[in-house]
Formats: sequence, C-alpha cells, structure tokens
Amino acid sequence: MSKQIERRTFLHGSAAAAAAWASPRLFAIGGRVARKLDGPGCIGSANAHLPKPGHPKQQSYSAVETATSRLRAGDRPVDSAVVGVTLLEDDPYETGVGLGGLPNEEGVVELDASVMDGTEHRAGAVAALRNIQNPAAVALAVMRKTNHLLLVGEGALRFARDLGYPEVSLLTPESRRVWLEWRAARGATDNWIGEPEGGSTSSAVKSPPLGTTHISCWDGKGHVGGATTTSGLAWKVPGRVGDSPVIGAGLFADDGAGSAGSTGRGESNILVAGAHTIVEQMRIGKSPEEACLEALRRVTDQCERRLRDASGRPTFDLAYYALNKDGEYGSAMIYGRYHNAAFAVCDGKGPRHESGAVLFSESK
Ligand code: ASP
Repeated sequence: MSKQIERRTFLHGSAAAAAAWASPRLFAIGGRVARKLDGPGCIGSANAHLPKPGHPKQQSYSAVETATSRLRAGDRPVDSAVVGVTLLEDDPYETGVGLGGLPNEEGVVELDASVMDGTEHRAGAVAALRNIQNPAAVALAVMRKTNHLLLVGEGALRFARDLGYPEVSLLTPESRRVWLEWRAARGATDNWIGEPEGGSTSSAVKSPPLGTTHISCWDGKGHVGGATTTSGLAWKVPGRVGDSPVIGAGLFADDGAGSAGSTGRGESNILVAGAHTIVEQMRIGKSPEEACLEALRRVTDQCERRLRDASGRPTFDLAYYALNKDGEYGSAMIYGRYHNAAFAVCDGKGPRHESGAVLFSESK
C-alpha cells in the first residue's frame, strides 16, 4: 500500500456545500453520527433531486420526491424506486440515463439498469439495451415476469419489444453533437477533422459527466428496495457493461440489513462488489456512511497502478449511497467531484440535497 494511500484524509463535503443543504436529523451510532429518515423515504444520487444546472425546465422536479410519494401511497420500495428513476430516464437533458444519455464510441446509446426487492430477495437487470427509454422498468419486468435475472443486448431488446415498450432513438440532437465533437477531438492521426483552431471543446468531451441515477427506498417498516439506471461511461466500447446492472455491485438490497447503490467508474466498483460489501458492512453494525467509506477504502487500496495519479490516489471518482433497515442513511465518494459531494434525500421533511463524506481532499 502506498504511503499516500495510508495518509488518507476523511473529510466531509465543503463547508459551503454543507451550509447549502438542509441540516439532517442526526443520531449517534457506536460513537459515530448517523442520519435517519423521517418516516418512509429514500436516498439517491444528486441528480435524483432537481434538474441539472442549465436545464431549460423552469419548474423543478425531484425523483426522490416522486419515489417517496409512491412509498407513502403504499407501493413497494423497489417499485417506488423505479417510478423515481423513470423520471430521469424520460428527461432528454439528463445525459447519463435513458433518453439523451451519452452514447458509446460508435454513437449508439446502450443502457444498463437493475432493480432489487430486499423483502423478496429478487432482482432483475438489463444490459447494453438499445432503443428502449426505460431500462429500469424493463429490469423490473425481468424480475417479475421471468425466471431469469439479467437479459442483455438483442435478447433484452426483444423482451422489451414483446412487452410493448416502444422503440425510440435515444440520441438527442445535443447528445449527438457532443458525440461528434468527441469523435473529432480524438486524435491528430485519424480521419476526422477536429475543432477549428481556437474552437472550444466542451467539458462533456474533456471529462464526460457521470450521470447514473440510483435510488434506494425504505418504507418505514423495515422493507427496502432500489433501482440503478445508466447509459454507462460515455464513449465506451460497444457492448461494455458497467456496474449498474450487476447485482452486488451497482445495487444490492436486503431487508435484513439495508440497500445500497453506486455511481462512478463501474469497473472499479465491480471489483469490490461495492453495493454488497456496503450492505454486509451495515449488517455487522456499521453506519451507512461508514459502510460506504469501507467499500471506498477497498477500491482505493486495490486500485491498479495505471489508474493512480502521481501521489498514488485514484484518477477517477466513485460514489456510494446507502440506507439501513432502520432508515439510517449516508453516502460517501472518493473525491465528490460531481455535484460537490451532494446526494439526494426525501422523507417527511421533503426533498433536499445533503452533503456526503469524502475520502480524499482534492487539495493535496
Ligand atoms: N457507473 C456507471 C458505469 O460504470 C457510470 C456512471 O456512474 O456514470 O457504467
């Protein structure tokens, strides 16, 4: 283990970010502080609350609020989570999921999603699904209507088509524009003419946004379930499948302990079975936040050399979200680069962002 990695710093999101978010309900667990949902509710990635900056919609919307209203109406946690993430899949301005998700290197959008019911111990998933806007709902159908857990590619598409899901073009004019820009900026030796001199390359090309949406739900009576949906890493090799549809990595839920999910570099998460690791850490008594940090420590300790910077830290970010069977919740990220370490929460106190724990400070 490198010295740098040993010298970890455990920080919370910036003071400015913390001040901006509603103050959580705090509980001490084993000497640590944990936050607890105020009645049925859910947590998720930051994009599960409010449109992203620059979103042309005037009114705000919140996937965690929608999921919580379904929980209050008596829907199961897994169904509530799917209703929530569907809102983002349908949003053409959300570039990390469903319609408008950034495509693979050939300009084709391939979607991954999973769902898990922590009460029934059942799960469903789809991977590399093309032309279907709502992969989380299709994953739910895999769970409910088949004897299988994961359908991929052409088989997943045929399954969705048979169920009546319409086939649509998932590439929006904006996501096509960003893809073409990325292709033109790839290298001086290929046959695509790059940006004109002095032209700007958009930040989405320089560092593709992480945009997966995860929601974990708790019904106030000890039942949990979740959903994770994504268009995966932008410009990926066609057929690449990330962590989101891998049960135990991008999502895991068990009423006996809790529910967890992830966003960020999927390959690194799969290698530590992140969501399962977090749920098992909660089972042995760790708070959700501490369980997320433990999984992140494994990611950073095991990270291959080529993915470390000069100081030995990972070059990528990864975020975890977790809630336990008692409704306590937390989140942690390696750096909190995206959304300033915020995550989304909704319960009796309404939808909001809160600040998660951060493993490494960016200022070295
Ligand atoms: N976790 C996703 C994947 O690796 C990417 C993301 O969160 O943006 O497919």
